[in-house]
Amino acid sequence: MHREFKLLFSPIVVNHITFKNRIVMSPVGTNFASARGEVTQRLVDHYETRARGGAGMIIVEGTWVHPTGQAFIGQLGAYDDNLVQGLKTLAETIKAHGAACLLQLHHGGRHANPKITSSQPLAPSAIASPATRITPKEMSLDEIAMVIDAFVQAARRAKEAGFDGVEFHAAHDYLISEFLSPYTNKRQDAYGGSLKNRLRFLLEIVSASRDQLGPHFILSARMNGEDYVPEGLNIGETAQIAKILENEGLDLINVSGGVYVTPHMIISPLPMGPGVHLHLSAAVKQAVRIPVVGVGRITTPEFAEQALEDRKADLLALGRALLADPDWPQKAYEGRTADIRPCIGCNQGCIDHLLRQKPITCMVNAAVGRDRKYAVTKTDHPRTVVVIGGGPAGMEAARVAALRGHKVFLYEKAERLGGQIQLACVPPNKEAFKKIVDYLEGQLRKLKVTIYLGTEANRELVLKKHPDVVILATGAVPARPAISGLDGSRVLTAHDVLAGCAKTGQWIVVMGGGMTGCETAHYLAAQGKGVIIIEQLKWAGHDIGPARRLLLFKNLKEAGVNFITNAIVQCIDGDRLYYQKTTAESGEQNVLSGVDTLVNALGVRSFDPFSEELEQEVSRVEVIGDARSPGTCLNAIADGARVAHAL
Ligand code: SF4
Repeated sequence: MHREFKLLFSPIVVNHITFKNRIVMSPVGTNFASARGEVTQRLVDHYETRARGGAGMIIVEGTWVHPTGQAFIGQLGAYDDNLVQGLKTLAETIKAHGAACLLQLHHGGRHANPKITSSQPLAPSAIASPATRITPKEMSLDEIAMVIDAFVQAARRAKEAGFDGVEFHAAHDYLISEFLSPYTNKRQDAYGGSLKNRLRFLLEIVSASRDQLGPHFILSARMNGEDYVPEGLNIGETAQIAKILENEGLDLINVSGGVYVTPHMIISPLPMGPGVHLHLSAAVKQAVRIPVVGVGRITTPEFAEQALEDRKADLLALGRALLADPDWPQKAYEGRTADIRPCIGCNQGCIDHLLRQKPITCMVNAAVGRDRKYAVTKTDHPRTVVVIGGGPAGMEAARVAALRGHKVFLYEKAERLGGQIQLACVPPNKEAFKKIVDYLEGQLRKLKVTIYLGTEANRELVLKKHPDVVILATGAVPARPAISGLDGSRVLTAHDVLAGCAKTGQWIVVMGGGMTGCETAHYLAAQGKGVIIIEQLKWAGHDIGPARRLLLFKNLKEAGVNFITNAIVQCIDGDRLYYQKTTAESGEQNVLSGVDTLVNALGVRSFDPFSEELEQEVSRVEVIGDARSPGTCLNAIADGARVAHAL
């Protein structure tokens, strides 16, 4: 064990089970189950990879306990006895790697998805969801009894399947949380009003589960320390609740925060620092004797060790960090912290996919959801591989190819690696993106990939290496739509602005309100410049996920950025930009005049100057990333991994 992480790797006993360390895998939804909630091979592989990576305990994702409660299309289920066999396979697989395992039990409440359940969502009170705008049905006493029983029966199934315990999901504006919080519970009966009444629903679940399952089965609850809304649950009440639940037989308490109107607190995106909820777990820890789990963007072993030393929690739950690198615990144990692939808090592959009802993946780890397919296998036929372009696609392709035993040469025309990521990390709060470059570069050097920086590859250079395979990752260049005046002296590209190679004036119009346009606007507004974003769709930020969008738009508003939406740029003439509103019936033209700088953030197009030429002379040529089809950094890394695994 590495001497710096003694607390992190000290065992702890919960109920009668000894966890080998303090690292808990957080219950992050995957959408890997079947449409009926059955365990799939993909799901088993996902958890096996993380159990093998060394987590002391795995909390398997929120599992629907009743047909009225399903929130996601591929959500795991525990609502029927037919599901026990699949859950058994899952529990056995996890435990075979020395990890304890709990099954998280969940009912979506007002955030259950009626498109899936074909029924009106249930909730303590008929208060519409801020996300779906759907008003749920206020639960009758019979419905309350029905769902309590569903939780207890699901806990029984978890026990029959061999899980060490269950965690009741009582956080994040799902059903139990909605009962606990005065923000969502306006009932006048025994289940609403006072803290004692709001707690009754959860208390009856815990009490009945303990009665039915006996003393030797872990019962945990994930609670909101704070809802982070004025009328919501606060840490004072949560500490009291924790104490009552402890007396009722709860073994473990997992402290998170946030509701659907504060999504950035549920799934803290990139601008938020590490350990956002640890002050809450520390407060709960003061109130109870049972172990407390802390959570909230815990990214490095150093930070985790310090949190334990500061008595912020007894265990620490890592969610996205273990998606990004399932071997995080083992690497920390061995002191190989530089080898940990960092989660950068982008939410693009995990949470955004989950909320869009798609199977999750990860920006930095293309193997998420493809554990079997992308398990690294050494090649029997080592080849010489030349990669052209040291952006995310090229770096990942080079890393995986080298890991598999190929001899790899990488050419990058800039003086540093990273490509578009070097620009992506320039806007405020985006510095974490740089960690991907640092990680990939560190791995390439360790794998002895030969890197040529400041070297523009050409046919002769490439052929000198006698490559068996050439991978072209030459990226993209700004698109130049047919807009008159786009080549004017006041027009810059977002690329030029973020690269710092062009001066901007004081009053700026950014053309294009996608992620690049919004972030470039934020970068400029943060310098005190006046910025307007002009976007042809109804909303700007259409390609930005919900948690990130909320914070970014708050930042843009605070920085004074204005928006003109439903607007098509028609032409630019000196310091004037002419546009037409798509909503106007008359076809009337509008003008913005006196503009110092116009920024083209209207997209990019592929840049592939080589493939045709090289295809004549090299047996295998692959075009990847933006050079193949412009997309996100997530797409680029996934493409790099895809091609290198197929060599
Ligand atoms: Fe972290 Fe982004 Fe991967 Fe999610 S997609 S685990 S936030 S790096």
